[in-house]
Amino acid sequence: TEKNIDKGIEKVPCLIETRANKKNSFKLRKVINGTGVVIHTNLGRSPIDEEIMKNVFEISSNYSNLEFDLESGKRGSRYSHLEKILSDITGAEAAMVVNNNAAAVMLVLSTLAKEKEVIVSRGELIEIGGSFRVPEVMEQSGAILVDVGTTNKTHIWDYEKAINEETGVFLKVHTSNYRILGFTSSVSIEELYELKNKYNIPLVEDLGSGVLIDLSKYGLEYEPTVQDSIKKGVDIVTFSGDKLLGGPQAGIIVGKREYIDEMKKNPLTRAIRVDKFTISALEATLKLYLDEEGMKKKVPTINMLTLSQEELENKANILKEKLKCNINDKNIGIGIVDDYSEVGGGSLPLEKLPTKCICISLKDLSVSKFEKSLRNFKTPIITRVYKDKIYIDMRTIKESDFDTIVEGVLETLNEVKGVL
Ligand SMILES: *Cc1c(COP(=O)(O)O)cnc(C)c1O
Repeated sequence: TEKNIDKGIEKVPCLIETRANKKNSFKLRKVINGTGVVIHTNLGRSPIDEEIMKNVFEISSNYSNLEFDLESGKRGSRYSHLEKILSDITGAEAAMVVNNNAAAVMLVLSTLAKEKEVIVSRGELIEIGGSFRVPEVMEQSGAILVDVGTTNKTHIWDYEKAINEETGVFLKVHTSNYRILGFTSSVSIEELYELKNKYNIPLVEDLGSGVLIDLSKYGLEYEPTVQDSIKKGVDIVTFSGDKLLGGPQAGIIVGKREYIDEMKKNPLTRAIRVDKFTISALEATLKLYLDEEGMKKKVPTINMLTLSQEELENKANILKEKLKCNINDKNIGIGIVDDYSEVGGGSLPLEKLPTKCICISLKDLSVSKFEKSLRNFKTPIITRVYKDKIYIDMRTIKESDFDTIVEGVLETLNEVKGVL
């Protein structure tokens, strides 16, 4: 009818505006993570607190002493800013930081085992995703892989049998993203420590997620800390800056000074060096680790992982009320349900964190269209669909985003109903 056509025409300016805005918007944008996966690699892993970003802003919008020694007035090293704090926290003699942990592993092997053999257990030849495969990284570094043992069982004599004049490194990889259960055994750091001393071969450990505090205090599964590895005598430990540490993307290398000094001289270091953004964000994050209580509040990743049931429930109630106040529609049901969040980032794969979700059920409307439309909202809202319902996990959502979520749900509802 004529009335319907008028109504259609009325919508045109609004549609043009939406499209124009979309075209002009940034390609890399903020999204709201309703998935409950805390270290979500596709959504940028660890978010950084605004306090920390103030430091990054100050450093990046001004000149800094990035490679300038204020004491002597001469050229300094960009690695010096993080070395002391990393040593203080981990107990290691020396430290350096590169672009990410994959680069860290490559640099370590290229420095200590180029054209030499690296002995690693078959049970630890893992793929992390996004094509980081331990054997392939080793190949790139120029090291020669010698895999020992079997998928489920490796013994200390497997390592010992493989030793010869060409052996450069024992490598232990923390299989953070999967577990083998049942008839299994792997070789402990303690056993490898004895072997490495007997043959004078450096022991390197790729810890992956690299946690600096004992998470079991907060009810999570125990994850080996960097401090543990150093204490047990591992020569070099590598780990990520943006997984369980909760900092910026970085690969952190800590351990014996003689080895780290060699790495600093490796030409590869220049190709994988960190910039001032990373150094300032990482320094500010690490400073928080000097006080564990403060850190738990201010490092978002750790904060989200240690939220109590009460805090999650409070958040869910606030958002539910806001949604109910603003949306009065028979097509949509809004409730709170119990569910589980995940740590993500290939860390603690078996850990299921009890959580609260806002659950949206729809009547006569398509759930997949609703999910897609939320995902295409001006601030994309990423949700989980389970059994024909939409779940928004409170663990990974900030209260400051609640109003945006209400707006997004409203707009989506109109869009899916065909009103917009
Ligand atoms: C995640 C991970 C890596 C890769 O680290 P990035 O910082 O993503 O480069 C390497 N090794 C292990 C064991 C990991 O878990």
